[in-house]
Amino acid sequence: MFPWLDDTFKQLSNRIADSKLHHALLIQGPSGIGKSSFVLQLGQLLLCKARRGHQVCGQCQSCLLNSATTHPDLHIVESDKQIGVDLIRDAIKKLVSSAHMSGAKVLIIYDAHTMTESSANALLKTLEEPTADTFLFLTTDKPERLLPTIKSRCEKLALPLPTLDSTLAWVKSQHNADIDINFAKLFSARPLALLAELQEEQNFTYEIFSAGLDALLQGQTSAMQLAIDWQTHADKVIKWTQYWARQQFINQMSETIWQLNLQANKVTQQLRNPGVNKTLVLTELFDKLALVKIA
Ligand SMILES: [Zn+2]
Repeated sequence: MFPWLDDTFKQLSNRIADSKLHHALLIQGPSGIGKSSFVLQLGQLLLCKARRGHQVCGQCQSCLLNSATTHPDLHIVESDKQIGVDLIRDAIKKLVSSAHMSGAKVLIIYDAHTMTESSANALLKTLEEPTADTFLFLTTDKPERLLPTIKSRCEKLALPLPTLDSTLAWVKSQHNADIDINFAKLFSARPLALLAELQEEQNFTYEIFSAGLDALLQGQTSAMQLAIDWQTHADKVIKWTQYWARQQFINQMSETIWQLNLQANKVTQQLRNPGVNKTLVLTELFDKLALVKIA
């Protein structure tokens, strides 16, 4: 388990051992904190036939099936877009049939806030009257988008946010390279998101981006030059500009930064159009950025 989630995991594991785990948990936390892995490991622990304290045995039939991701009593619902009612109905059908392995049954719904209203309504009865030994784990980073009827039937658990130090320590153990501290701060409570960004970074790093912005703000380069140099990394540049703007906004709430953020949102939309002139829209963005006075 991730170090920052270890205590919470152990608390739930104790409740499993005491048969006191609530049948429906709503796990909340920002994206990149490790919610998916957390509930998956919790589900696997529930299904293990020979738990060793807070850990699975790794050897029983349940554990072997889980390693192969083919456990017949562990069901996962997820979708890139919205979770439609068919996905939920299908999952419930599997859940109400008796357990294949004569033990617990687990249903995990990732990003539960993406359920449509009919999906949520289809799930309500199962949340209210679950079949015996059935556990539902819902995850979300946007709890405000969930129907109140869903929330009220779950035990809500907000995962503890890792400190910047523990984020850095963990990411360094996974990624053997120097990490720009300012970049890391943008992901302080989202270690997995930071790691993903670092692994994705290759020839265009945040350091290069950051140095380019400094040069622009000091008048050593032009908005158009940066736009030309960086147009092949446009998506990343926009995302980082938004992070940068957000971070500046914490230090000083200025109209210029607010305008920059609005422009970044606009450019994100413009870039979805395949015919867009990237140099032009990036130049407009950097023109706005060049107006920011660093506090
Ligand atoms: Zn086991």
